Amino acid sequence: MTLKKISPNIYILPFDKERDRPNIGYIHGDKYSMLIDTGNSPAHLNDMLNEIKQLNLPIPTVALITHWHWDHTFAMHAFDGITVAERETNQMLKKLETWNWTKDDMQQRLVSGEECEFCDTHIKIEYEDVSTIQVVHSNIEFEDHIHFDLGNITIEVQRMINPHSDDGVIAYCKEEQVLFAGDADSGEYYLLDGGYDNERFYHYIKSVDKYDFNTYIHGHLDPMNKEELKSFWKQIEAEDL
Ligand SMILES: [Zn+2]
Repeated sequence: MTLKKISPNIYILPFDKERDRPNIGYIHGDKYSMLIDTGNSPAHLNDMLNEIKQLNLPIPTVALITHWHWDHTFAMHAFDGITVAERETNQMLKKLETWNWTKDDMQQRLVSGEECEFCDTHIKIEYEDVSTIQVVHSNIEFEDHIHFDLGNITIEVQRMINPHSDDGVIAYCKEEQVLFAGDADSGEYYLLDGGYDNERFYHYIKSVDKYDFNTYIHGHLDPMNKEELKSFWKQIEAEDL
């Protein structure tokens, strides 16, 4: 995978469906650079950092987490910088910090419903040795909203009701008209088996519609323009609601 340039100062390392690796975002600032999510393993994060080095871009010193799910957070401990997450995201991560990572413990969590089948399957694909998994919460915690000024470029972060997870923030760059959504308009995998809560879905798309952006970055899809996003939402409405 090579970095994909989205706008003058924004890049992503494209998602990998097979390993359930989400898009990782990179924002190049004059003062500092940041990541959007850290990836699902230290190996995933390293792929991102190597790509950044190859382009002679500055190494990111801050990482914003979009939501608590493993594929976005399990590399946080390996990130050599400051991680930032919403309070609710940290509360979930603190719970996951107490989990043991053996095949037996994972199986028990599947039976109890604490873990979902899709995640369990892909964790085992990404990690040859699940006992190496480490979960940590972030170094900086905010509530509801935070603003980053990276120098030439700003990121506005807002927690948003969405159909995918109870925490969940979007990260918006006004200067380059890019909106990072995490997985917010995907279904819910822990309680609804990938299904949708209609009310949350409509609340989410209405809130996002107020932002002025050209490019929408979903965690596990190719970047979309507004038109493509609208037809993606129409498809969800037709198939899942
Ligand atoms: Zn997710």
